[in-house]
Amino acid sequence: MESSLPDAERPRRPEWMKVRAPSADSRYFDVKKLIHGAQLNTICEEARCPNIAECWGRGTATFQILGETCTRACRYCYVHSGRPESPPDPLEPLRLAQTAFQMGLQHVVVTSVDRDDVPDRGAGHYAATIRALKAKLPDCTIEVLTPDFLGVEEEALETVLAACPEVFNHNIETVRRLHRAMRGGKADYDKALWLLRRAKELAGYPVLTKSGIIVGLGETNDEIVETMRDLRAHGVDVVTIGQYLQPSSKHAQIDRWVHPDEFRRLREQGEELGFGSVFAGPLVRSSYRADEQRHAAETGRGAVAC
Ligand code: SF4
Repeated sequence: MESSLPDAERPRRPEWMKVRAPSADSRYFDVKKLIHGAQLNTICEEARCPNIAECWGRGTATFQILGETCTRACRYCYVHSGRPESPPDPLEPLRLAQTAFQMGLQHVVVTSVDRDDVPDRGAGHYAATIRALKAKLPDCTIEVLTPDFLGVEEEALETVLAACPEVFNHNIETVRRLHRAMRGGKADYDKALWLLRRAKELAGYPVLTKSGIIVGLGETNDEIVETMRDLRAHGVDVVTIGQYLQPSSKHAQIDRWVHPDEFRRLREQGEELGFGSVFAGPLVRSSYRADEQRHAAETGRGAVAC
């Protein structure tokens, strides 16, 4: 599956995937200074997200806790993979809360690397981060995009949900047929679905559940709809669908550029399945305009054009 095509033969990036550079009159450089000054990581930078000029320019970002090194090696992901050199930083939650406060965030999105080397898989660090945010920003809403907490799923969910995040997100990432090949032997399609359903059962409050699908990895549109159907069957409220971008020649080869018209159709199909919010578009990422995704789901506006 790895790309062996010379650059000239790789599928060219279509017009609709073009993004703008950071502009000096946006909040981009202020956000960058705050985040770097607080020695925090973001998935925006670690995954080289194409939306960084837009999101940081609007004054938003998605924090990545638990370090820079992920103990998994998904074939589509740019985040550094390996053996983390240090335990979770106990002061990171406080620095993150202070930075979110300085940024004036009203909806904070927190994700992380996988930490299979830590006994609780990082669940306690998530909870500490949520609590620090709620103490510093009592009126903000919090969204966590968590790993699968391999082997300690139930306890980890209890720990995270006890801190009451408003949105619990776990990305299914791809369709059932490709899941193992793309995510490796530790990840499991049905376990991801279970985690989403169980989060809702355990929460004890009306938590929104959310998941994301990357397209262009070799799946068909019918398989994407099937995946959405599985998510709905497990009570998921919000779904995002976005185009895969191959980070390097060592990563999974891009299979196709999904046309905006196909995204539009997928969005309609998601809406027909009953999601509270469907964000589908070439540049959509799980945390793209996450505040609007949450708002759409809560106010029943349904699908949103991107
Ligand atoms: S879409 Fe998400 S990861 Fe990408 S720049 Fe925006 S907030 Fe960051």
